[in-house]
Amino acid sequence: MTLGKGCNVAFIGTGIMGAPIAGHLLDAGYNLTVYNRTREKAEGLLARGAAWADSPAAAARHADVVFTMVGYPEDVEEVYLSTNGLIRSARKGAWLIDLTTSSPQLARDIHDAAEVCDKHAFDCPVTGGQKGAQEGTLTLIAGISEKDAAPVRALLDAFSSQIYWFEQPGAGQLAKLCNQVSLAASLAGAAELIALAEQAGISPKLVSQMVGAGMGGSAQLSRVMPAALEGDYKPGFLAEHLRKDLRLALEAADDLQLTLPATETSLNLVDMLCQVGGERLGTQAVALLYADEATGVAAGLDWGKLDTSGPAEVPDEQSPARQRYFTNPRNL
Ligand code: NAP
Repeated sequence: MTLGKGCNVAFIGTGIMGAPIAGHLLDAGYNLTVYNRTREKAEGLLARGAAWADSPAAAARHADVVFTMVGYPEDVEEVYLSTNGLIRSARKGAWLIDLTTSSPQLARDIHDAAEVCDKHAFDCPVTGGQKGAQEGTLTLIAGISEKDAAPVRALLDAFSSQIYWFEQPGAGQLAKLCNQVSLAASLAGAAELIALAEQAGISPKLVSQMVGAGMGGSAQLSRVMPAALEGDYKPGFLAEHLRKDLRLALEAADDLQLTLPATETSLNLVDMLCQVGGERLGTQAVALLYADEATGVAAGLDWGKLDTSGPAEVPDEQSPARQRYFTNPRNL
């Protein structure tokens, strides 16, 4: 059976990505009920006609399709697998679609648990950023086959421009982690391009334009880093979410006995940004790791928070200031 306009849809997690995605489902004519941990972030949708529910279970009670777009695997686990989670509370036959970037194994567990309870669950992380969510042009990375997803295809099309079908539960998440591995390396490259140009006294904007038009270009350079060049570090994609993704990617690689040194370096950079107070900044704030200290402080960073007790290559006897010097990539 294909689910058409007028069917009941629940949406859980109305943050940077979830709110605009849910907005497209409203625009497409679905009856929408929303729940978010912090209600204020759902107010825009409520003003446009969505109904509010006080819990994921209440949101799912009458839903034919439930979307989730929360932050971390722990949030996904709570929303799906806790006593009042979706696996128990959703209707029999309901579709449960997780858009969060999360753990492949958790996606498999949720799929299997749903099947036992006569529900359909699949992982469907997205790429395309806040702009793609706002414009309804996301790329969806589905852990299900096109044939099996046919009943919910119209809902997916309401906020995407292309869908890649990875057929198996958890495979959508694995493919998304591949995306993040590539994204993070491009992000570091874009930040280092700016650092090198600035230090050399040539215009980072002009260099970015030149590189963007050629073989060194990337979406990180042309769509994410320009904000940093304007001193804008507001989150489109939170640094702490990229840290989560890279940890998940390295866990997946570890399971496959694969080493990803460039991803380890990218994770070290993003982790450093998070440690010094940049966890809620956008990923373009990686550029601040290469900037002078005053620029970082003006953006809210505090280098005194850096945890230098880890397995750093810095000898213990060095002073905190000297340790900070050696853990700042600009100085390495
Ligand atoms: P976000 O703004 O933090 O949104 C997550 C939302 O989920 C928040 O509003 C949060 O509530 C809510 N939430 C978390 N746990 C919940 C729970 N147990 N019950 C109900 N609501 C809960 O982050 P985002 O940027 O939208 O990203 C969401 C996911 O998509 C992340 O996994 C991220 O890695 C991924 N992603 C992001 C982008 C991007 O460009 N932003 C692109 C692709 C994928 P609060 O309001 O209380 O915090």
